[in-house]
Amino acid sequence: TETRLTRNFSIIAHIDHGKSTLADRLIQGCNGLTEREMSEQVLDSMDLERERGITIKAQSVSLFYDAQDGQRYQLNLIDTPGHVDFSYEVSRSLFACEGALLVVDASQGVEAQSVANCYTALDQGLEVVPVLNKIDLPAAEPDRVAAEIEDVIGIEATDALRVSAKTGEGMAELLEEIVRRIPPPEGDSEAAPKALVIDSWYDNYLGVVALVRVKAGRFRAGQKIKAMSVGRAHEVSRVGVFTPKPVDRTTLEVGDVGYLIATIKDISGAKVGDTFTDFNNPASEPVPGFQEVQPRVFAGLFPVSAEDFNDLRDALDKLRLNDAALSFEPETSQALGFGFRCGFLGMLHMEIVQERLEREYDLDLITTAPTVVYEVERSDGEVVMVHNPSELPPNNEIGEIREPIIEANILVPQEYVGAVITLCVEKRGSQTKMQYLGRQVQLAYELPMSEVMLDFFDRLKSATRGYASFDYQPLRFEAAPLVRVDILINGDRVDALSAIVHRDHAESRGRQIIERMAKIIPRQMYEVAIQAAIGSKIIARSTVKAMRKNVLAKCYGGDVSRKRKLLEKQKAGKKRMKSIGRVDVPQEAFLAVLSVD
Ligand code: GDP
Ligand code: MG
Repeated sequence: TETRLTRNFSIIAHIDHGKSTLADRLIQGCNGLTEREMSEQVLDSMDLERERGITIKAQSVSLFYDAQDGQRYQLNLIDTPGHVDFSYEVSRSLFACEGALLVVDASQGVEAQSVANCYTALDQGLEVVPVLNKIDLPAAEPDRVAAEIEDVIGIEATDALRVSAKTGEGMAELLEEIVRRIPPPEGDSEAAPKALVIDSWYDNYLGVVALVRVKAGRFRAGQKIKAMSVGRAHEVSRVGVFTPKPVDRTTLEVGDVGYLIATIKDISGAKVGDTFTDFNNPASEPVPGFQEVQPRVFAGLFPVSAEDFNDLRDALDKLRLNDAALSFEPETSQALGFGFRCGFLGMLHMEIVQERLEREYDLDLITTAPTVVYEVERSDGEVVMVHNPSELPPNNEIGEIREPIIEANILVPQEYVGAVITLCVEKRGSQTKMQYLGRQVQLAYELPMSEVMLDFFDRLKSATRGYASFDYQPLRFEAAPLVRVDILINGDRVDALSAIVHRDHAESRGRQIIERMAKIIPRQMYEVAIQAAIGSKIIARSTVKAMRKNVLAKCYGGDVSRKRKLLEKQKAGKKRMKSIGRVDVPQEAFLAVLSVD
């Protein structure tokens, strides 16, 4: 296809506004799939995504569309994830596009995430096409929502297309609008080849697969290429596009979005954001890469059995290839042995990585409580970044501890403003903006990341019956009166249980943590003392009494199946225990700090 007949675009939308359904409908409209293949949403391919109903990885699909002008267009659609933790993947996808469909649920209205993603698209110079979805619903108010798009986002929306991804209404018009409004890609087809790596992953059969956007020249099988940041030669074995099934092509031309498979064995050979070029006829400059993401939440991952350490490393290596935002470094804990300190974008990201490690790689893990990164100025003036509470320097060597502050942008219907303000105040936030926009109110707060990390999103949702939406960016580090609370089990400090907390909350937090732990740690043959301390000062204590009865004693008499169940349950629980000194501590206890409020 000629470049002028190519259209590269993404769909941006708040979660549940119908992005995946719309993508499937577009694929169907271009005969990319049969009815039967459509029975399941095709772009959300990982099992985990289906189960959670969210799109984690951005994926692409190339479609042919016969337009009313008699021309056959190639539409490259790049799907994007919708959750706040993954907003950087949205910006990554947008880098490969000239346009974006802004999909808004006409029965709901504009949400914070759509605003943030739409601005990213506009900043990157994309043509944004607003689309009002779900007009089949009786509750749909397309006029009101169109006005809201204009009020809140500030783009023209009176003529926005009105569609139903469910019934297919408006799809023909939408396809025409895509061709008409989104500009074709630019680039020199005769220049030295350049392709931006938008995504890359490890396939058990194919090895490293890269999703690329060709910015200049062309790529073909047999060609010798290199990644510009590495410089090693690789031979291209296949190029092609997803329809959404992978289909090999002879070449990938300028403006194309497709896959490139080369003899690349190791992750650093196809890093997301890197540029591929011809080995013998290299481009002089790489494609300006997108911003590298910094993990914001850190936690320790430890194998339950020490023999699994190398398997865990291999699994993390493979996951990282697929997930540029995941970072990890070996970590040694006195309590938990050898493991890794991993960096994540947020709690959802952490949960997903953990679940993938357990499911896809069959690993049993102990996870420590997540923490943000602190900037610590030592008394001697040196500044260190602390990713692990147990690495905080001793009190007398600390000049100042600074915590990360974020800016939260919240959109909420008027009737819930009070609830949101109460929550933000409780979380040590300070308001920087409050603006009424039609039915909604836009609020901006500066908040400590540590307060947002744990349960802010859930609390916000429940305080507003799910109507508030939010998006955040890191702002700066700011000094705060923070202290480390240590937990001692039978007098020994357990490094993996330390937490950094605000001084005003230290005592109550410490007490809550040990009280929870005392409930979680099963009775042992002897009494177990659990204490919380700041430095050498004990601030709270609790005990787990010694075991008196056999666990089977609870089952009176002959119910065999019930006994077996109980024993099995006990066995399953044991798998996730770590012995600390002589005390068996279950996984849950390491997260006790999370379940206090
Ligand atoms: P995503 O999170 O933006 O990818 O949203 P999904 O495509 O997964 O859609 C979320 C929910 O809305 C699903 O239950 C869809 O069936 C439903 N949905 C999507 N589009 C429409 C529509 O046009 N009309 C109606 N009634 N429901 C829709
Ligand atoms: Mg989706």
